[in-house]
Amino acid sequence: MKNINKAYGLAIGDQILTLVAERLSQFTENGVKVYRTGADEFSALLQGPDPEKVSALAQSISDLIREPYRLKDKSFHVGFVFGLTLFSSNSQRCETPINEAAFAHLQAKKNPHHPMVIYDDRLHQAYMRRLALEKEMPDALARGEFFLVFQPILDQKNRKLYGFESLMRWNSKNHGPVSPGEFIPIAEECGFIMQLGEWAVEKACRFWIEKGLCQDPLTLSMNVSGQQFLDQALLLRFTKVLEKTGFDPKRLCLEITESTLMTQVLETEKKLRQFRDLGIKISIDDFGTGYSSLEYLHRFPVDILKIDMSFVHKMERDPKTRELIKVMKHMVDIFGLELVAEGVETEAQQTLLSEIGCHLQQGFFYSRPLPEKDFRLNF
Ligand code: C2E
Ligand code: CA
Ligand code: CA
Repeated sequence: MKNINKAYGLAIGDQILTLVAERLSQFTENGVKVYRTGADEFSALLQGPDPEKVSALAQSISDLIREPYRLKDKSFHVGFVFGLTLFSSNSQRCETPINEAAFAHLQAKKNPHHPMVIYDDRLHQAYMRRLALEKEMPDALARGEFFLVFQPILDQKNRKLYGFESLMRWNSKNHGPVSPGEFIPIAEECGFIMQLGEWAVEKACRFWIEKGLCQDPLTLSMNVSGQQFLDQALLLRFTKVLEKTGFDPKRLCLEITESTLMTQVLETEKKLRQFRDLGIKISIDDFGTGYSSLEYLHRFPVDILKIDMSFVHKMERDPKTRELIKVMKHMVDIFGLELVAEGVETEAQQTLLSEIGCHLQQGFFYSRPLPEKDFRLNF
């Protein structure tokens, strides 16, 4: 629906939602209660029948919703995902059916290959872990369970160190090490990412100053995730930390994923300019995995493209991927940007990238992310 609203306006979006609701209301004849529970979110409640009937009904709802909608001589298709839960009064689970269905729905949204997800015991375990981690995070931050590691980025042309990327780690008292791939999305969903992100910037800046790295022309790269970037107070948070620590903004680079930058492009451009005005560099992370519009790449005040590691890993055996990296190199040359390759694991990758002219490289081949106690400058 978001895409339809964007492309055709809210009035068309509203009309399509009405048509969706009309189609859904057909099922009330079968004893299904249908509710609109969010802007483009509907819930259906069915009492009594056996699980097979519910799945069959869900399938027919899904089939009907996917049929194209005709409006003003145009045909519209609506994407649709389903979260389903079966609930009985003697259930051992402590969650309400609405929360269970919402969690199943969230999982369905994350994986377009499985548009219908049923809340089962496996999902229940995942849900309970997610709740526990979410609840624990603020105390864990206060207890000092979060820490930063730093991975070097090397300039192969001049055989010099270009800078470091700061990456977050969580060693939980109750769950052991939790990967950022798990806790960052949770922190994003519950809004804690703003606080966590601010902590990380301050911590990294202080470490930089403590190590006396501000005198060197080294760049400190920090990741900014989608929700963090949307935060209206993000700029303020950064200026506050920069003022408090005395960190030189010219040494700071924000890594923002391509998909984050390509949502709300007008807002994005404004925000990026504000960071640029402070002297902070912008890097497009995971480049090649989203859908960048070349026009925006040109318009946005961006300094660096960071090639996603999936390209680097494929480049040895796939000549087409090598060609794609050459295209990216060509593009950054046209736009006057820098190109960084992440995930470099082998000498062959290092050589191939250098041959293409992608000299800024990062990956396990050079060094794993280093905890503070192992921090060094020679690689
Ligand atoms: P990312 O920004 O794309 O970071 C690169 C990930 O690749 C890191 O995983 C890094 O440890 C890993 N990596 C580095 N070199 C290699 C290599 O040669 N081979 C392979 N296979 N992997 C390599 P990590 O630290 O687990 O972070 C995962 C993601 O979590 C990051 O992806 C980033 O999106 C997010 N993240 C990590 N720290 C932070 C943070 O402080 N703030 C925010 N907002 N997100 C963070
Ligand atoms: Ca990154
Ligand atoms: Ca990346």
